[in-house]
Amino acid sequence: MSDPFQQALHATLPMLKKIQHGIKPAPKGSTSALKKLRDAALAGCPPGQAAAPPQSTPGTGAAKRPAAQPANPPIAPAVPAGGWTMESLRKAVLACEKCPHLVRSRTQVVFGVGNPGAELLFVGEAPGADEDAQGEPFVGKAGQLLTKIIQAMGFERSDIFIANVLKCRPDMPPGESGNRKPKPAEMATCLPWLVEQIALIKPRVIVALGATAVEGLLGETSPLRDLRGRWLEFQGTPVMVTYHPAYLLRNQSLSEKRKVWEDMLLVLEKLEKKITAKQRAFFTKASG
Ligand code: SF4
Repeated sequence: MSDPFQQALHATLPMLKKIQHGIKPAPKGSTSALKKLRDAALAGCPPGQAAAPPQSTPGTGAAKRPAAQPANPPIAPAVPAGGWTMESLRKAVLACEKCPHLVRSRTQVVFGVGNPGAELLFVGEAPGADEDAQGEPFVGKAGQLLTKIIQAMGFERSDIFIANVLKCRPDMPPGESGNRKPKPAEMATCLPWLVEQIALIKPRVIVALGATAVEGLLGETSPLRDLRGRWLEFQGTPVMVTYHPAYLLRNQSLSEKRKVWEDMLLVLEKLEKKITAKQRAFFTKASG
């Protein structure tokens, strides 16, 4: 081994191998932090049973919760003796003040709307400006598109239930308009309300609309393109993940519309609904 380069390479190779073995993938801080927050929010909540709502009375489990739990003080009333009804839950959520910064900025809490016995529940991320103003989820342009999707499936909005993970509009920095994505801690704080809604509605299928809703509901941060079209599960209830209607407003290609529609066909099949040939062909070249 007379070549100086070969000699140097030979000398450094063991060191390079050690370094290579020592390299670990970067920690997924946001994912694990979110999972901790969700787990804390759902602590003591067996599958199929509602979690303790965010306003649990002091001393009813707070000591058992890890430090990652949102540290907002309990304010709202405790669970009624006979358990929640949709009306008592609505009143409690409308009075919720767990997130003081959102309480200051919100016009109203957006509880959710639809049939309290719905077999299908659509879950979005948070109210936007239109929803905050009207007190109903999915009423803006994206909401109008969601209504069209629901109708194409053979339902009316009043047949199903629509709710968000976060019930108050995320606040915006002063002078800024538009809507911002909810933070993991905000979603974890509010998630028990949605869990209570799911426990009351008992939907046969949940559709999670968009990556943030999936993150808030399931703690799943994989790219949406990898998640959509597959059945996931939330406490025993099948969850179909699909694109948020706002994405379809930004990307109006036939292929993207078809992807969402194929997800909805899977939902209809899961619900054992009759699907017409015309419905099956929606958003294909043959349909146009
Ligand atoms: S976002 Fe949810 S937990 Fe926070 S104040 Fe609004 S209703 Fe309460």
